Amino acid sequence: MAAWEENVRRVEPYTPGEQPKQPNMIKLNTNENPYPPAPGVAKALRELETDNLRRYPDPSSKVLVQALADYYGVAKEQVFVGVGSDDVLAMSFLTFFNSGKSILFPDITYSFYDVWADLFRIPYECPPLDEDFKICTEDYLRECGGIVIPNPNAPTGIEKDLKELEQIIAGNPGVIVIIDEAYIDFGGTSALSLLPKYENLLVVQTFSKSRSLAGMRIGYAIGNEKLIRYLNDAKYSFNSYTMSAAALAAGVEAVRDDVYFRETLQKIINTRERTKKELHRLGFSFPDSKSNFIFAAHPKYPAKELFEALKKSNIYVRYFERPRIDNYLRISIGTEQEMDCLLRFLEEYLGESI
Ligand code: PMP
Repeated sequence: MAAWEENVRRVEPYTPGEQPKQPNMIKLNTNENPYPPAPGVAKALRELETDNLRRYPDPSSKVLVQALADYYGVAKEQVFVGVGSDDVLAMSFLTFFNSGKSILFPDITYSFYDVWADLFRIPYECPPLDEDFKICTEDYLRECGGIVIPNPNAPTGIEKDLKELEQIIAGNPGVIVIIDEAYIDFGGTSALSLLPKYENLLVVQTFSKSRSLAGMRIGYAIGNEKLIRYLNDAKYSFNSYTMSAAALAAGVEAVRDDVYFRETLQKIINTRERTKKELHRLGFSFPDSKSNFIFAAHPKYPAKELFEALKKSNIYVRYFERPRIDNYLRISIGTEQEMDCLLRFLEEYLGESI
């Protein structure tokens, strides 16, 4: 090993879901929204002046921060925006988890949390989910350096009751509790209503799922003004211009069109509920999902086999080769037609191999 290599910050990176480019594929592997963003987004992007691109964007992302503040009825000083919620979460880890004590997040959850913790040298412990894949409140009522709870959790899709989340937030006044609400718009109850009561709460959301803008990379955090100030200090010490002119324009339009937002969400929720029924009929079991995916296992067919068979037919779902969950498929909710194709394939495959 070269001498310089001994001083490299070595990290085991997060593995994102595949982004295959097959023609006619059905892509249900990264929880993207199957519908386009609000029509105003395309218009705003078409009308972007190239002169806007010649210049640096507004480092404070004022228009987007204000749009979000108005939408959620909070002060603009309570809103922080970043390059997807990955950026917002990473910045939050860096800013708030510096006590040297272990932070806590579930053993089965979004697999970026341990990567950021390792990257920033933050110690962590992962209380196991119970047998039904639920987060146990008691596990989070002890001394720690901070807490991250995704709600609904990924990849299980299970929502934790807001009262139980409040117990965790109230029980840890000395540390920051991050609630990662990447999937909250698909029928969950947000912790935003708790903000006036708890200054240690940070709610993180994204435009990637419910607002169909994964490709634009927009995420945000809402919290106490002091928390947001600290987050901005860290951001400005890292990269002042995180949000491109295009992201700012697109984000504002996506927030503005609430009718389209609600219609799209309802379509996805309806498709999810229908898919649940059909998957049950085919013998799958799964926790009740409040997200835009279903985490399903079949009693007779190993998930890996199904994953490979689906892939051969150009249907992409997500499979995690990890303890406890290696017999599950995470299936994102696509359009009605896409789910029909998936269900038809499964019906034939399960029928054939019986
Ligand atoms: N949190 C959770 C729980 C997620 O599943 C994801 C999506 N991979 C993210 C955060 C990050 O999403 P984005 O950076 O696209 O906002």
